[in-house]
Amino acid sequence: MDALADVTKEKKTTVKRKLDESDEPPSRKPPNFEVDHNTNVANHYNRLQEVGLAARSQSRIFFMRNFNNWLKSVLIGETVEKLRDAGQRRLSVLDLGCGKGGDLLKWRKGGIGHLVCADIAGVSVEQCRTRYEQMRRKGRGDEGMFSAQFITADCTKELLADKLDRPDLTFDVCSCQFVYHYSFESEVKADMMLRNACERLKPGGYFIGTTPDAYELVKRMEASDSLSFGNDVFRVTFQARGDYPLFGCQYHFNLEQVVDVPEFLVYFPLFEHMASRYGMRLVTKQRFPEFYNEKIKLSHHRNLMMKMASLEEFPGEHGERPASEVEDEYRPARQHCDRADNAGTCVVGTLSRSEWEAASIYLVFVFQKMS
Ligand code: SAH
Repeated sequence: MDALADVTKEKKTTVKRKLDESDEPPSRKPPNFEVDHNTNVANHYNRLQEVGLAARSQSRIFFMRNFNNWLKSVLIGETVEKLRDAGQRRLSVLDLGCGKGGDLLKWRKGGIGHLVCADIAGVSVEQCRTRYEQMRRKGRGDEGMFSAQFITADCTKELLADKLDRPDLTFDVCSCQFVYHYSFESEVKADMMLRNACERLKPGGYFIGTTPDAYELVKRMEASDSLSFGNDVFRVTFQARGDYPLFGCQYHFNLEQVVDVPEFLVYFPLFEHMASRYGMRLVTKQRFPEFYNEKIKLSHHRNLMMKMASLEEFPGEHGERPASEVEDEYRPARQHCDRADNAGTCVVGTLSRSEWEAASIYLVFVFQKMS
């Protein structure tokens, strides 16, 4: 434990931030670049427009988004089920980095009792609140719908416990989906985010989430000729090769029309070590492809995937163009369909190669609170 902590101390100071190229004298430059990162992230997510299903279905990453949603549904559903089996009744949940409330329906399906939604992007939090109110109105009033609180806060800097309506509230689950990597800019920030996630968890409670796999990112970058890798759907661009500080190892992530922000590598052994300080034990760490291969074997997960249109039908119905028109993108699906025993009758579910290359960067983690 201490060896790791020492390495951390040694390395955490090695981050070099680029000053902008303006002619301003140094004293006029923003004094604190840390503020800029968080503000940029908040501004970026605040600017993202809510688009309807019709527009979403035209997106190059329509199926990938559905796939990610399926994966989160499975993760959330199984976590809720485990807690139920252990005898927990009225579950309370913290959605850390809730965004616009993309997981609200999943929590309602899970039949939870109370939800606290927190995010740095105020506009997103308000959209999340509106979505919640609409769900509540459309449902049967209070019945069947969980109570909720919405908090706008930089969860790498502020303590959420101080902002809870019910100061003694504890959680059965903290869910942190596609968020934790924004905190790995510094040890202080990563620790504050973790503290927010774990401090108020009940013994036996779960901290679940999804984040890019640092090994996968570095492996792919090192296999490329440049500091960058990706395709027409996404692009990851590092600042340097060969030196990957434990904190503040920044790369730029661009995902078509959705994300265009700086993110930070999360070195998982360090994450696990830091979580252990909050009494957390790692239960599951699986890359998306492994998680998918395991869960898809169960028929109810498979049915859910079909219902959520997580995978694109190949070949498309009525000669529809698939999300990607590049033939090579669908080669594995075509090969499967061309095999003699499948000829003529074959429809398979697939993600385009580009979408799969993007989705397979991520991993799923599950920690459980021991004490
Ligand atoms: N969890 C949601 C949103 C993921 S997008 C989902 O799965 O759909 C990442 C979210 O992290 C954005 O909403 C962004 O505003 C939020 N975020 C980034 N940095 C944050 C911080 N420091 N504190 C709180 N939220 C943050």
